[in-house]
Amino acid sequence: MPELAEVEFFRKQWDCGLGQKIIAVQLHPRKRIFRGTDARRIVDLLSGRRLLRSFARGKQMLFEFSAGNWIGVHLGMSGKLRTEPAGFRPEKHDHFVLQQLQQALVLRDARLFGRVRFHHGRSEPEWWRAGGPDISADKFDRRFLNAFLDRHARAPIKAIVLMQNGFAGIGNWMADEILWRAKIAPSVLAGALSAAQRARLLRETRFVASELLRIIGPDFSDPPADWLIHQKWKRKGVCPRHRSSLRHETIGGRTTAWCPRCQKS
Ligand SMILES: [Zn+2]
Repeated sequence: MPELAEVEFFRKQWDCGLGQKIIAVQLHPRKRIFRGTDARRIVDLLSGRRLLRSFARGKQMLFEFSAGNWIGVHLGMSGKLRTEPAGFRPEKHDHFVLQQLQQALVLRDARLFGRVRFHHGRSEPEWWRAGGPDISADKFDRRFLNAFLDRHARAPIKAIVLMQNGFAGIGNWMADEILWRAKIAPSVLAGALSAAQRARLLRETRFVASELLRIIGPDFSDPPADWLIHQKWKRKGVCPRHRSSLRHETIGGRTTAWCPRCQKS
């Protein structure tokens, strides 16, 4: 599933269409990605409009068009944004295509777990404003984190780091990377974390998020070799610090890898 930095990578794929008009909208209105949305209204209202700007937050994207038209995109499990030459003919899984004079902006989603939402209005949609703060924003600070951990005091920290209203854009492998760096065992209850552990959690969450945006965001490069991610999916994965075996367990419903030596409590 695309996480924060991959979402940022895909957001930028439509940048070449900024400032240009949409001359035609092609979509598959009955596909699940349009659930809860009147897809025909998108066709009516976006045609002839210009793509003005775009935003990414966590796992969501928002595209703003002229005359108060907004498209929200969540990539789900397998959604991808890309650009094709002008006159492009959509294929089976290209469920949403914005034709412009110079190129076509394409959303493909073979597994249909993604979602496209539409909003018509002067300001950004309610569902965009309702999300948690950006990890890189000032609002994601010690106070916010403490309140969030206290609100979910009885859940294991691994499950908390996956909650999108607190840790926007953090997915399974990023969560393991953060907890390994912060030296916190994934099964520890949020309410049991010491002040020092909370401080490390805040610092490492910010570090992993900003490093990934820097490394993956532009061109999908790999994180450095000493990151946990490279070991996590191996059957005989080892801790990059001590080369001792990683442990694997399901916590909060998700496969989790950690180092019992680094992450004692
Ligand atoms: Zn270790």
